[in-house]
Amino acid sequence: MSYYYGGWAPYVSVAARRKEAEREIARRRKAGQPIAPVIVEGRAIAKTFWGKAWCENLERYRDFDNRLPRGRSYARNRAVLHLQIEPLAVTALVSGSEIYEVTIGVSAVSKPRWQSICRDCAGGIDSLVELLQGRLSKNVMERICRQDHGLFPRPSEIGFSCSCPDHASMCKHVAATLYGIGTRLDSEPELLFRLRAVDEKDLLANLGAPASGSKTPAAGKILATDDVSALFGLEMANDLSPIASKPAARAKAKTKAKAKRKSAPISSRATSRAKAGSKRPPSVR
Ligand SMILES: [Zn+2]
Repeated sequence: MSYYYGGWAPYVSVAARRKEAEREIARRRKAGQPIAPVIVEGRAIAKTFWGKAWCENLERYRDFDNRLPRGRSYARNRAVLHLQIEPLAVTALVSGSEIYEVTIGVSAVSKPRWQSICRDCAGGIDSLVELLQGRLSKNVMERICRQDHGLFPRPSEIGFSCSCPDHASMCKHVAATLYGIGTRLDSEPELLFRLRAVDEKDLLANLGAPASGSKTPAAGKILATDDVSALFGLEMANDLSPIASKPAARAKAKTKAKAKRKSAPISSRATSRAKAGSKRPPSVR
């Protein structure tokens, strides 16, 4: 169906495409653009609680049914050459017939919803390390993953655009990027909280919990984010090290400017919100 639109044309092998993509990425790196590829090891796109929960959340919505499988194979084939997660927005470069620029906007968790999550999880999470490692009780996991009311976005909270000529509501480059986020959360789970504009430490604060003081972790028990990242980021450290630098902003601005909008109205709104830095999603809960 979309065979000609950035798909795998029959006369160019995956290997040849990959080689061309590698050349292009090398060119961009040389030009000073920070590149953070999504490296999927083996068949599983995500292996940790946070990465898997992200992917599983996407898969439970019918809205995304059609395109997700193709995106999954793209991600497995390491077509996501670069991915950066920021507050309310993800930008990526995805290899197809050429390299396409993808922007995904995700709205913030509404304040009432976040307060409700924190209240329901109060006293159930002992430390930031356990939270980010996904070592959580069944109740806490279920609350965080609750469909439409948990921490993961529903389709109406996700907007996207891609520079490819595929006019489908969600092209495979966007789908691959969505999976790439899951892979990235394996190594940097705290980025989920950045993306959704909430502070993970609130989950430890026992907001509104009656008589839960004894469960509040001692200050020393909460590690700095850098320390926590070290626990998760070992495998990806080499690939991720360049993205922390400032030129990312420049690259992002360029990417956003070039990426064409062709998503549903709600998507455009979400992306605009993300760009404007607004923290209000279209609907509460
Ligand atoms: Zn596309």
